Amino acid sequence: MESLLYLPDNEYQKSFESEVTKTKEDDKYIVLEKTLLYKEGGGQPSDRGKISWKDGEAEVVDVQKRQGEVRHYLEGDIPEPGTKVNGEINWERRYKHMRMHTAQHILSWVVLNMFDASTAGNQIHEDYSRIDFKPVEFSERDVEKIEKAANSLIQKELEVEKKMMDRELLEDRVQEGRTNIDIIPSGIDPLRIVVIGGEDICPCGGTHVDNLKEIGKIRITNRKSKGANAERIEFELEE
Ligand SMILES: [Zn+2]
Repeated sequence: MESLLYLPDNEYQKSFESEVTKTKEDDKYIVLEKTLLYKEGGGQPSDRGKISWKDGEAEVVDVQKRQGEVRHYLEGDIPEPGTKVNGEINWERRYKHMRMHTAQHILSWVVLNMFDASTAGNQIHEDYSRIDFKPVEFSERDVEKIEKAANSLIQKELEVEKKMMDRELLEDRVQEGRTNIDIIPSGIDPLRIVVIGGEDICPCGGTHVDNLKEIGKIRITNRKSKGANAERIEFELEE
């Protein structure tokens, strides 16, 4: 299994060196010994970037985990196995995802505390994101309250800590309803966790900012009912 260089707490590195361990010409993907590029998952889209080597270069147009390997899909030349490469991530896109993903954690935390509702799903994009909650029904007034509570946490400039934690300890410490640890395969131990302000603990393999002040301001742009006792909110970030 290749190593993921951005874990557990290395989201700000923008370039890396690695070696190709597998090449699949027909499907235009390579596997690297180690990588900084985020593979799609957990509601967060994959990174984009560039791979270059002595006599070639390619754009990374997608990164997906399939059959236990992280596949970097390329446009351009395809390097042979054994080739030493330099990798670079598209930082602008990545940083937007980092800010969005941490904003999603804040909103999930706020809604759990205010309404005792869990996050049932989420999808992050560069420009807007959405979260589904249940069981809950929001009023317009509730949406304002959520936005205000989330932004006041940002104003406190809380630190975001990322580290590994033993599964057993995590099961003890995670707030009820915050996440369903049981759906994470039991072989994964320890788990990578994201802790906001020393209080909100969530197992997550995504990329996050180091301090809430980097997020800017959360603006909830839309809310809709997703059936009985389920709500979806959409939000954007202002610098
Ligand atoms: Zn997450």
